[in-house]
Amino acid sequence: MIAAVIVDIAHANVDRIFEYALPQGLPVSPGQRVLVPFGKGDRPTEGFVVRLSEVRGHTAGSLKTVLRTLEPYPALTTEQLSLCEWLREHYDCLLIDALSLMIPAQMRGLKVREKSVKVFSLALDEAGLAAALLSITKKDGSCRAPLQRDVLQLLANCQGALSARDLCAMAPGCESALPALLKKGWVHQNDAQVRRVPYAALPEESVRPQPTAAQQQVINAVNAGGAFLLHGVTGSGKTEVYMRCAEHAAQAGKSAIVLVPEISLTPQTVERFRGRFGTRVAVLHSRLSSGERFDEWKRIRMGEVSVVVGARSAVFAPLENLGLIVIDEEHESSYASEHTPRYDAYTVAQKRRELTGAALLLGSATPSIESYSRAQNGELTLLTLKERVNRRPLPKVSIVDMRAELAEGNRSIFSAPLYRALKKCLAESNQAILFLNRRGYSSFVSCRGCGYVIKCPHCSVSLTYHKTDSSLRCHYCGYQASLPETCPHCGKPYLKYFGAGTQQVEEAVQHFFPSARVLRMDRDTTQQKDAHLRILSAFKRHEADILIGTQMITKGLDFPQVTLVGIIAADASLHVPDYRSAERTFCLITQVAGRAGRDAMPGEVYLQTYSPEHPAVRYAARHDYESFYHYEIGVRRDCRFPPFADFIRFLFESEDYAQAKEQAEAFRQLALNKMQRLLAEQNLPPSLIEYAYAMPAPIGRIREQFRFQLLVKLSRAPGSELLKAQLLALARERRKEGAFSHVEINPQNMM
Ligand code: ADP
Ligand code: ZN
Repeated sequence: MIAAVIVDIAHANVDRIFEYALPQGLPVSPGQRVLVPFGKGDRPTEGFVVRLSEVRGHTAGSLKTVLRTLEPYPALTTEQLSLCEWLREHYDCLLIDALSLMIPAQMRGLKVREKSVKVFSLALDEAGLAAALLSITKKDGSCRAPLQRDVLQLLANCQGALSARDLCAMAPGCESALPALLKKGWVHQNDAQVRRVPYAALPEESVRPQPTAAQQQVINAVNAGGAFLLHGVTGSGKTEVYMRCAEHAAQAGKSAIVLVPEISLTPQTVERFRGRFGTRVAVLHSRLSSGERFDEWKRIRMGEVSVVVGARSAVFAPLENLGLIVIDEEHESSYASEHTPRYDAYTVAQKRRELTGAALLLGSATPSIESYSRAQNGELTLLTLKERVNRRPLPKVSIVDMRAELAEGNRSIFSAPLYRALKKCLAESNQAILFLNRRGYSSFVSCRGCGYVIKCPHCSVSLTYHKTDSSLRCHYCGYQASLPETCPHCGKPYLKYFGAGTQQVEEAVQHFFPSARVLRMDRDTTQQKDAHLRILSAFKRHEADILIGTQMITKGLDFPQVTLVGIIAADASLHVPDYRSAERTFCLITQVAGRAGRDAMPGEVYLQTYSPEHPAVRYAARHDYESFYHYEIGVRRDCRFPPFADFIRFLFESEDYAQAKEQAEAFRQLALNKMQRLLAEQNLPPSLIEYAYAMPAPIGRIREQFRFQLLVKLSRAPGSELLKAQLLALARERRKEGAFSHVEINPQNMM
């Protein structure tokens, strides 16, 4: 037989299949990892067998031979092999980059170390044991070797194997007799594998809630198969739905993947799944040690689990017989990878659905515009949960117009209504959350007098202030202007970049409420491992009255004693130069507001803003997703933003500014020519290409490298997929020559 092998070296030059002969009698299957001689020196190198074929006449003799297999089982399933092929095509990456998404890093580079312990068992039958015991008994009936006797008796009683540690726990010191016992042949020694199961000791779930009628409807729909978007308000019982559907899959002998954002992988979430599925669930998150990660992977690969709960990369989990993929909080930007290959979980999940027929369920209280529009056009089936399970009303949200506050002479961080509410909340010994929207600080310029934000005349996104030459620039089209002295709208000299930080909020709290106990959660206070979990659990234990935080505090957390949420500057994220800024603002406000009044006490939310009339602010305050969607989809249609068009961005980096620029422009010409030829050949309308601009990247220089980008905008219409494929194929070709560093489609954070 001949094995087609991909060597585990990440380089474009070796990103192809090499053929090796298989030695007689070596059992190998596709997906298995092997050691092969590679290169001039025939250095033993790790590789993946992707295919096997029969020897074709003369070829076999000239081939090198596989040295050995690395594991007795295929590390990759056949489905994963297909997935790798597809990833390479779809995301323009090396095959080995795709393969390495599927297996834990610890497995590569001959680093696998399965944790094993030596275990001991009795090598004697009953008669042999009696004889052995007799031989160590003195004439007077006492024992000559009491430790040996202890070990023999313990092993006889346990009728299995014990580790030295177990033996020591039962009869301290007796393990020292093991060498003698082994020597006499009375005891066998074996290696037993130990799997590190994180959180293994969690208790089983005590009560299992009966689904509500609304939940049951959703569950039934998903169990019947298909692709769904579940729009369910916070606390509507979405997680319960996921667990029920995963159970249904398991009962049919199938497996399920439940993706959650990394930040939601708190012990609370894990506990719920462990409580329900016990050891049949594997959990993959970034706090696992590499050993634990490998062990969880192995349990999955060996078919020991039926449910995998994990962050983005768990979408590649090597489950066979996949029956369900859930993407919780599907609007989260963390589902798009920012490393090569730049995949997004939804697209991969759809591919796995196509390969396996699994059901797909996306869930969110604030679906992304893209997903909701898929539900509108039938690509996904819309399911809804309109009420919280406990029927608690959603909190009342008051919009506070900060322009009016300024007009009345209040220049502090707190508006009068928020100040009063905070005072009352503290007086009643309740808890409050103060939320600061970090995203977009200091990058956009607005007028404190009238709320006016300076925008690009061509793109309807806010212009970004560049300190270096005090210019304002558009990151989408390259438009440039200088910073005006006064507000173009009201003429007052109040133009400024936005900028308060969590620290300033803390100072303000200390100034106005000196006796309040404050916890702060931001990038500075969460440097250490698990720091954010510590802060959250301290807050939950009411060790502080006020939690000040950024985006990190918004996710699925339950604080029953929180009755007040203050959003310091709701509109900060509204003016980020990104077509998704309104969507993100709506989502943030909804998620933060959802933290108030989860329990018996009703919640109140104060939303401070300079743009009280903006639909993202207004509709979020009313908990009205549908109206927001209809507004926003109209904007997207008018501006030709996704889902009506796609941005494809190529990044060019060089130490030499002129070179980066030249490369971008040369590639632009090449790409345009190629695309126009295709349009002509296929008789497609030229309007499919909306534009192709070469311009400096938003961050013009990083680590001595000048950065240029080519932004291509393609209309989403029949034929555009073909065009996109052509563009990516060209990219792949040119990338081998090192022309640019990467390609992104609708990047989440353009920098
Ligand atoms: P979501 O994921 O939509 O925010 P959860 O699934 O976390 O909602 O449910 C919110 C709370 O309601 C949880 O404490 C959960 O245990 C509880 N819950 C969910 N479904 C039910 C039900 N059918 N009956 C009673 N309690 C439920
Ligand atoms: Zn512009």
